[in-house]
Amino acid sequence: MQDEKAFDLAIIGAGVVGLATAYKYQLKYPKHTIAIFEKEAHLGAHQTGRNSGVIHSGIYYKPGSYKALTCTNGRKQLVAFAQEHGVKHDVCGKIIVATHADEIPQLDKIYQRGIENGIEGIELIGPEAIKAIEPFVEGVQAIRVAVTGIIDYVGFCEKLMQQVAKINPESKLFLNTKVTHSTAQGLQTSKGFYKTTKKVFCAGLQSDRMAKKDGAKADMAIVGFRGDYYELTPAGHHKVKHLIYPVPDPEFPFLGVHFTRMTDGSVECGPNAVFSFKREGYSKTAFSWRDTWEALTYRGTWKLFFKHPAKGLDEYKRAFSKRLFLKALQKIIPSLTMEDIQPVRSGVRAQALNPKGELVDDFKIVKKEEAIHVLNAPSPAATASLAIADEILKKAGL
Ligand SMILES: Cc1cc2nc3c(=O)[nH]c(=O)nc-3n(C[C@H](O)[C@H](O)[C@H](O)COP(=O)(O)OP(=O)(O)OC[C@H]3O[C@@H](n4cnc5c(N)ncnc54)[C@H](O)[C@@H]3O)c2cc1C
Repeated sequence: MQDEKAFDLAIIGAGVVGLATAYKYQLKYPKHTIAIFEKEAHLGAHQTGRNSGVIHSGIYYKPGSYKALTCTNGRKQLVAFAQEHGVKHDVCGKIIVATHADEIPQLDKIYQRGIENGIEGIELIGPEAIKAIEPFVEGVQAIRVAVTGIIDYVGFCEKLMQQVAKINPESKLFLNTKVTHSTAQGLQTSKGFYKTTKKVFCAGLQSDRMAKKDGAKADMAIVGFRGDYYELTPAGHHKVKHLIYPVPDPEFPFLGVHFTRMTDGSVECGPNAVFSFKREGYSKTAFSWRDTWEALTYRGTWKLFFKHPAKGLDEYKRAFSKRLFLKALQKIIPSLTMEDIQPVRSGVRAQALNPKGELVDDFKIVKKEEAIHVLNAPSPAATASLAIADEILKKAGL
């Protein structure tokens, strides 16, 4: 009988990236065993289970970047997996709307990127076509992106895990098990030591800390950006049919507050992007001394603050003011009222920040001996997860 505490591969983190990697590895090596360690009690407890639930097309990203390549490829793999394994999803399309003529040059740039990135079936549309798709939207021009969709990412994670267990029942998921140290022989966890030489760290909001513990060179720190969501009340629900996005600010990797019809039929509005004083904290006042101290003693954080003081302040005001949040949404749907929206939940993005105070735009995956560290996997990493998993295996030489 095999040693119950020895595995061919260990994966740290049961978010969508860790589980997609487990699935791809298990498909390739059906006889090998995998141990997946997750410190929380269920799958997708952090970013994966608190995201917008959107299958991104790949239109926004710099051509040739990891984001552009893996998003387009990963999106196709994700939809195929969802169809085959019955994950709730809908390729319902979205529109990116310019509400003022001065946004049109930026909208055109996004359209050109979409062409360069090979996004199927994108088209520029005018005010009448916008109204035909979304009657309550006031826009001067828009891009209709037919291949964007929505999906239940936690449901996707559950199916990935089921597939791993089906291919090799000796592979194990250890919930409520925190990895505390890494050595050449294996991993020390809150539930004992496990032997393994190969490791893939997909620790999301803790990825820089795990890299440090493993002695990997990161040259970045994770900063949490909380995103709050409102949802449309029954009074406002009819004002949104599918997905509606603004033209994003090109200086930031976030897409701006948008409207998303979720797979359960509700419509969410958000998320904003507020510096978070607690990496895994989901209320407006959540605070951690450790997280705050580490962020404020990192020079990249101060450089970021000094570069964008007005933007940071505006986001803070909006986080505490329903009226200001509504104002941002009214840019796209002017008829929206205070009675049409109510606060619902939040998520925190793990965003890598370099010492120069720049938000690391692309995905970052590094190799250290027998270990792989996924250091920056913000949006659209959920969409791209199956393609990111391919990259991880390639980088690891597996
Ligand atoms: C508000 C928001 C909206 C987003 N919207 C979208 C979207 O619509 N579409 C899209 O494609 N992407 C979206 N994203 C991005 C996407 O959700 C993430 O890129 C993706 O979920 C990252 O997955 P992950 O597995 O790397 O991280 P996570 O899902 O955060 O998983 C990491 C896991 O590692 C575990 N862990 C950490 N440290 C340890 C340890 N020491 N021991 C054991 N376990 C550990 C954590 O508990 C966690 O479960 C959004 C993100 C946010 C926050």
